[in-house]
Amino acid sequence: MATTDQDIRWDLTDLCGDTEEARGQWDGVVARSQEIAGRYRGRIAELDAPAWRELLDELDELEQEASRLQVYSYLRLSMAATEVDANDLATFSRERSADIENALVFVGLEWIAVDDGRAEELLAADELAPYAHKLRVERLEKPYVLSEPEEQALNARRPVVSSWQALHDRQVSTMEVPFDPGDGEGPTPHGVSQLLSYLYRPERELRRRAIDTLYEGLAPRTDVLAAAYDALVGDRLTTDKLRGYANPMQPTNMANELDDETVEAMLTAIEESYGIAQKWFRAKAKLLGLEKLALSDQYAPIGDPRRFSWDEAVEIVDSSYTRFSPRLAEIFRDCLDAGHVDVLPRQGKATGAYCTAVSKEILPYVLMNYTNRLRDVSTLAHEFGHATHNVLSLEAQTWRSHRTGIPMAEVPSTFAQSIADDYLLENESDAGTRAALAADRLENAFAAIYRQTVLARFEQRAYAVRADGRALAAERLNDLWWEENTAYYGDALELPDGYRMGWSYIPHFIHVRFYTYAYSFAQLVALLLYRRYREEGDSFAPTYLDFLRAGGSASPADLVAPFGLDLRSTDTWREAFAELDQFCDEAIALSSVPG
Ligand SMILES: [Zn+2]
Repeated sequence: MATTDQDIRWDLTDLCGDTEEARGQWDGVVARSQEIAGRYRGRIAELDAPAWRELLDELDELEQEASRLQVYSYLRLSMAATEVDANDLATFSRERSADIENALVFVGLEWIAVDDGRAEELLAADELAPYAHKLRVERLEKPYVLSEPEEQALNARRPVVSSWQALHDRQVSTMEVPFDPGDGEGPTPHGVSQLLSYLYRPERELRRRAIDTLYEGLAPRTDVLAAAYDALVGDRLTTDKLRGYANPMQPTNMANELDDETVEAMLTAIEESYGIAQKWFRAKAKLLGLEKLALSDQYAPIGDPRRFSWDEAVEIVDSSYTRFSPRLAEIFRDCLDAGHVDVLPRQGKATGAYCTAVSKEILPYVLMNYTNRLRDVSTLAHEFGHATHNVLSLEAQTWRSHRTGIPMAEVPSTFAQSIADDYLLENESDAGTRAALAADRLENAFAAIYRQTVLARFEQRAYAVRADGRALAAERLNDLWWEENTAYYGDALELPDGYRMGWSYIPHFIHVRFYTYAYSFAQLVALLLYRRYREEGDSFAPTYLDFLRAGGSASPADLVAPFGLDLRSTDTWREAFAELDQFCDEAIALSSVPG
């Protein structure tokens, strides 16, 4: 168990004094947004470049004020989910955010309405350079925006769409089946995530029973889960048609600033390299002394990692960052010194880990649930990959242009994790820890690259079936899921029949279509950058820091161009798999050493 000296908690004073102060400040920001609206509404088309710049700077400042209060409210809730005061503030903050958004929505709408020639003139002006990319991206939506009454009618169906999503969520979250984890207490009610957590346990029989129990629980619900998905896919296809989108992936690709060719080149290269995963599954079967791996063995632990104290984790991240670039380590230490990390799990505290940017003036905040596991060390390195990206991009960019979509946001975090993992592999003498680290790193990469791609291909096929006038009944979805998964696993892994229902509880299909491939993208780009770093050595870091500083000021393709990467080329993506294949061989070698 952790000792009390590690019970390091957030110091929120950089954000706000207390909830009363936050409420007062929210009201101030709302009033300012309304005042800005009073000055500019209906006038956007008349603004020249200097006047535009003035407005954008004003909005940038206002958004950072709102962000500071939003983060304060969010962190309060993360520390105590059931605290009344924190919940009241969260509700209050949501309402004030909506007020601000409503007051300022005209800016984007009027900007899109500016005619193309005039917009190009403005975008070429020096004054607008820091904002130009984001302004351009906003205008890409123009051909797909409908008339005001049409947009209002589409908005009016939002509650119905949410009801289908809520129905799905409720079906999954209320699923409880009796399961005996073998702890001597007998069978107790188990939910989806609890059952899935047993897949990481060393006992084979426990894993197998957990996964069978999951499918038994899902079976009576798949009809309703399929009906919810069918309704949502049908709705999305209908609105896509009204808006004029060419394919169901286009809205997601546009939000990610990736063109259809890039995404397809990547997915194709990923599918071509399914063999790397299959090689690992065969090797893993041998390591576990099995003839063949079953699905429930996929995440069975390899190696026996030792424990890591918080101080040791800090030391590992600090040293590994310093070796790459002292600037990154400096940001890490600044955040720790400022009290912007909350370390231990506590009753009522949010689970998992995250990093949140605040503003140009205030360092980001990081939430951890540190329990001395090897995995927690990687998580710390990952979250501070986000933090260093936030700090450097906010130094160089405006608030608006520092932000990136998920595909680019997860690159620095994944890269930072590689820096720490490699450092650990070089310096760790315990064989069981080294084996576990190499296997974890590989399996995390597989989960991000391959599994997310299987999910995206499944979605593409589901939309195609529905667009072709066939309903997405459970049995049909089972077939599509099975086909995409057998392509991935090949004959290297035995899939139980119940796995046909594996699509049914995945929330991304329901909430954000084609959400998952962004993680494949980020993982592969991080691998490519890491390969460049290993080839180039120390001369790589300055280019990489410039990439961090660029934030979201350019498209992903332009952001990675200085590294000589051409994202539209399948060959680029193939290069990433040379790196992954090497990870795989390393993991096999390290795991085979008797520890
Ligand atoms: Zn992340």
